[in-house]
Amino acid sequence: MNPKDAWNAAFTQLEMQLDRASFDTWLRDAVWLGEEGDMFIIGVRTGYARDMLQHRLYRNVRRVVSDSYGKSVELRFEVQKPDSELERSEEDMPLFRLLAQQDKEAPSVPLHQQVPRPQRPDVPESELNPRYTFERFIVGSENPMVYPAARAVAERPGLAYNPFLIYGGVGLGKTHLLQAIAHACREKNLRVIYISSEAFTNDLVDAIRHKTTAMFRDKYRSADVLLVDDIQFIAGKENTQEEFFHTFNVLHNFNKQIVLAADRHPSQMQGVVDRLRSRFQSGLMVDVQTPELETRIAILKMWAQERGIPLPSSVGELLANRAKANIRELESHFNQVVAAAQLSSQPMDMGTVQIVIDGYRRPREHVTIAQVLDITARHHGLSVEDLIGPRRNSPVNQARQIAMYLAREITCASLPQIGEAFGGRRHSTVLHSLNKIAGDLANDELRARVVTLREKLLKGGE
Ligand code: ADP
Ligand code: MG
Repeated sequence: MNPKDAWNAAFTQLEMQLDRASFDTWLRDAVWLGEEGDMFIIGVRTGYARDMLQHRLYRNVRRVVSDSYGKSVELRFEVQKPDSELERSEEDMPLFRLLAQQDKEAPSVPLHQQVPRPQRPDVPESELNPRYTFERFIVGSENPMVYPAARAVAERPGLAYNPFLIYGGVGLGKTHLLQAIAHACREKNLRVIYISSEAFTNDLVDAIRHKTTAMFRDKYRSADVLLVDDIQFIAGKENTQEEFFHTFNVLHNFNKQIVLAADRHPSQMQGVVDRLRSRFQSGLMVDVQTPELETRIAILKMWAQERGIPLPSSVGELLANRAKANIRELESHFNQVVAAAQLSSQPMDMGTVQIVIDGYRRPREHVTIAQVLDITARHHGLSVEDLIGPRRNSPVNQARQIAMYLAREITCASLPQIGEAFGGRRHSTVLHSLNKIAGDLANDELRARVVTLREKLLKGGE
């Protein structure tokens, strides 16, 4: 048996022999690096793993490997450097520099007074939308590649295409596909992190502020599958780019899957350093195209069916023809019509659609966004500042979404104007909020709240 095969066989043996936790912690990520005579060199991800294997577990592991090779061997464990290009040591990396600096600055505290570091941080950013699955993704003729490619990545993470990058315009299903991959990998019990590049940046900034940069690094580097959405927002952020570059290399070296979504081809990304841009392009890149009419209708049918709402084909066609450019817009129109039907207990027919469409054309100048904010805030026991500010806890968030929904429904403000009035939020955020509320209106309590507020506003306050 050649040395590498012997190592692989031993690896399988060890997986059976060691208890699960030890194997997962110390050996799972070990990779074959090569041999020097009878010395086998094995790459591991962390210094802890190396020390553990080199000392505590050494005899056991060495025996299994020697047995499998049929000859006595020695082992050397090395912390795998991210990339040959990175001849620099870890100390050169920004977080390590920072840590070193923090260590210098920190007054030395006796060991017994030190506060223990929290255990592995959970990853709240990786909440997934349960609706973004492969089953709910309609494959149209305009996008023959992207769906099978995403499926292949989900089936063989790290092996099929790595990195896998999906790019294209707004509302074309990039986030949906990323999360579908994430769901599928979670089902395999892989450690999955789904995060937007903005949240990644915020997490880094927080880590620097709270001096938890080591944890930050560990968290992202221990992912089996890392999916970063809207990676284009990394542009111009040097520290984030540098950290992400190293994270990328570590993961890639260990055959961990990286999936990215962007609003444009990497070659069009200004303000992204070349070495990172070339990483983005080093795997499979697939673009998503605007959906054809048939795809849009098929999607509408799926949504209607899921909610048990009969969708006459005339209504489907009208809606599909009104939202040509992207599915998010289609979703928004669909949700508005469903909501209008539910709020007025009407069937979803051309009449309802017409009312909704006419409704948008009718100016309602007498209600302003300021009134919507005021009344919605008071109704929820909040202040207007809460609604337009950055707080994101769930009562505030929902009140804010309701206010946006009402602003859209009964003032004549455009989406960008609403975004502006709500503390400079993006057009897409507003759209997301409208969809969220419209989609949740089947909930009686929410619907009653929206109806009450709407009546108050139309009556001109309390
Ligand atoms: P992007 O990230 O490209 O801006 P999203 O993934 O957020 O777009 O998609 C917007 C909405 O459209 C989501 O609700 C998503 O579920 C839906 N959607 C997009 N493409 C499809 C598709 N092919 N089949 C079903 N739903 C889709
Ligand atoms: Mg998206």
